[in-house]
Amino acid sequence: MLYNEPLYRPPSEANSAIVQVTLGCSWNQCLFCDMYRKKYFRVVEALEVEKDLRLLSEYMPDVRKLFLADGNAFVLSYERLHSILETAHTYFPALHRISAYALPRDIASKTTTELQALRQLGLSLLYVGVETGSDYLLKAIHKGETRASIVKAINKAHAAGIQTSVMIISGLGGKEHTVEHAQGSATLLNLIQPKFLSTLTLFLPRGLEAYRSCFGGNFTPLDTYDVLQELHTFIAALELEGTIFRSNHVSNSLPLEGTLSRDRTKLLTTIEQMSSEAKRLRRFSPEYGY
Ligand code: SF4
Repeated sequence: MLYNEPLYRPPSEANSAIVQVTLGCSWNQCLFCDMYRKKYFRVVEALEVEKDLRLLSEYMPDVRKLFLADGNAFVLSYERLHSILETAHTYFPALHRISAYALPRDIASKTTTELQALRQLGLSLLYVGVETGSDYLLKAIHKGETRASIVKAINKAHAAGIQTSVMIISGLGGKEHTVEHAQGSATLLNLIQPKFLSTLTLFLPRGLEAYRSCFGGNFTPLDTYDVLQELHTFIAALELEGTIFRSNHVSNSLPLEGTLSRDRTKLLTTIEQMSSEAKRLRRFSPEYGY
């Protein structure tokens, strides 16, 4: 089976069957993201999807998890998704969990009844790149969403029985907006109570200057110590009831995991210990000494 590259999937979908039902990202404008920059968005033909599902089922007949790619496959209409899920069940009798990346507006565009029907067909998890809870930063990075639109859409999914796994990007607002980003993101998460939360650290594939220009030139990137301070402020402000937290993306200097808020103290202590070391090492950076 040939995938249309590049192909991205969340780490937790490593053992899932993956079928591309869309190619690229329908939005493709977030300032920090280059994942699908060279890939034009298109919906994959129904016959092509069915052919791929059939091929996958020959190699993975007992698979229990299916991930719908690419970038925001949940942008597909309810009718299209419903048909894909029904077809998937005919090829994978043991199918238990279906998931996809989604933008909040992809959720908002479907009715609660439609979301419930998709849930009934096994679509039980959506990965949502929330990135930040700050309206200022959401606008600056061209997310095309607001705090209110994110909270409303995710709570709509939850009400329909669909769980979410949300991502926050450390360092997104630089030194100038680090507190606003940490506290705004925490208060947003407290309103949605996602099942899973992960953080990754800002990476700028198009360079610092391009990113800085969208902040009117007012953006100073965080160093490791700053990122840890931001993460500390963020986790300290979270009031979550059983969210599974992972910060094990390759972009993070400190891998962390736990259940929030149960493990909050332990996580904060680990960050404080690592912060001391990061502060010590800071003396060797050009900005702070050498
Ligand atoms: S919605 Fe996701 S995949 Fe699309 S541009 Fe933004 S971060 Fe990248």
